[in-house]
Amino acid sequence: MTLYRDTGVVLRVQKLGEADRIITMITRRYGKLRAVAKGVRRTSSRFGARLEPFCHVDVQCYTGRTLDVITQVETIDAFAPRIVDDYQRYTAGCAVLETAERLSAEEGEPVLRLYMLVAGALRALSAGERDPSLVLDAFLMRAMAYAGWAPAVFECARCGKPGPHHAFNVPAGGAVCDDCRPPGSASPARDTFVLMDALMHGVWERADESAPAARREASGLVAAHLQWHLERQLRSLPLVERRSQ
Ligand SMILES: [Zn+2]
Repeated sequence: MTLYRDTGVVLRVQKLGEADRIITMITRRYGKLRAVAKGVRRTSSRFGARLEPFCHVDVQCYTGRTLDVITQVETIDAFAPRIVDDYQRYTAGCAVLETAERLSAEEGEPVLRLYMLVAGALRALSAGERDPSLVLDAFLMRAMAYAGWAPAVFECARCGKPGPHHAFNVPAGGAVCDDCRPPGSASPARDTFVLMDALMHGVWERADESAPAARREASGLVAAHLQWHLERQLRSLPLVERRSQ
C-alpha cells in the first residue's frame, strides 16, 4: 500500500454503491485524479462536505487495485459556498470545471499550469469582485493557450502580420488580416480585440473598463473558438448567465 499526498480542486463527484463516492480532481502533482471517498454519503462522514465540486483541498490517498482511496482531506480554500450561492458565479464555475476536465484527459499526466488556472479562476469567482463572465473568459483564453490553441488576437493567425485587424475566423485560428480573411469571418469591434488581449494577459484594469457590448462579443468568440477545438459543445457553457453591465 503506497500513501501519497496531493493538492487539488474537486471537479466532479459521482455516487458509488450505498455510501461511497468517486471524486474526480485536478491536482498539482498527478494531474487528473479519480479516487474513492469511502462512507462520505453517511451524514456522520467527517470529510464528505470537503469533497464537493469547487473545493480546493489537500488529500492523502493510498494506491488501490482499481481506484485510489482517499484517507484524509484538509480544506485549503472553501470556494464552494460563495460560488454555489450565486447563479452567475455557479454557472461560470461549472464551465471552468468542465473545461478543466476536458483539457486534462489523461489521468496521471501532470497539468500544473492548468491546475493553477483553475484554482485562480475559482478564487476570483468566490471573491465576487469581478464580473464572473470576465473571470470565465480570462480562464478560457488562458486554458486554450495552455492547450496550445489560443486564438490569435493581435497578429494575423495566418500570415503573422501585426494588427490590429478587423476580422476573426475560428477555423483560421482567430484574428485575420484583410488579405487572409476567409469568407464568413466575423467582424468584431476594435474594443473586443482589446478586451480579449487584456483577458489573455491578465490586464484586469483594462478588462474591468470594458463595455457590455465588447464583453458579449468577446464571450461569443471565446466560446466559438473553444467549441471548435473541443469538437463537441461543452454542456455547461450555454447555461452561463451573462449579466455584463
Ligand atoms: Zn494575414
